[in-house]
Amino acid sequence: MSMLRLADYDIVFQEVPGEVSLALNISGCPNRCPGCHSPHLQRQVGEPLDEATLGGLVDRYGGAVTCVCFMGGDAAPAEVARLAAFVRETTSQRLKTAWYSGRDRLPDGFALSWFDHVKLGPFIAALGGLDSPTTNQRFYRATDDGLVDITELFRRGK
Ligand code: SF4
Repeated sequence: MSMLRLADYDIVFQEVPGEVSLALNISGCPNRCPGCHSPHLQRQVGEPLDEATLGGLVDRYGGAVTCVCFMGGDAAPAEVARLAAFVRETTSQRLKTAWYSGRDRLPDGFALSWFDHVKLGPFIAALGGLDSPTTNQRFYRATDDGLVDITELFRRGK
């Protein structure tokens, strides 16, 4: 039984540079950022997000996207990693995976190898999101040698 719940989802173009992403908005966020941009995600809303739900979404939208982006899930990071592994394995690695976390750093023992990208850092309204020059948030590409900060890609063309 999954602890994660799927509030809603969308196909998005900005969240992961160079990818068309199926963004899964996970509810039950524990972070309580002041000025939270998505207060409904702090509540437990939506259907359980498990392999059955995710497999259905990948069947339906997998041909239209290049990446599955998990938005949130900080209450159960190991479950997010397990679902990322499911995406990789059931698509023979055709789909990339990304995790948007509100944490400052990865949880101890987090299975980063299942991810191509990770966003870290709480939302601080005064500093702005990833496209803000003053943002505290960081967006990384996950490589065999560790995390590479590519946050600047979000500011191109601004
Ligand atoms: S991580 Fe996102 S959803 Fe959670 S409290 Fe912060 S801004 Fe809101």
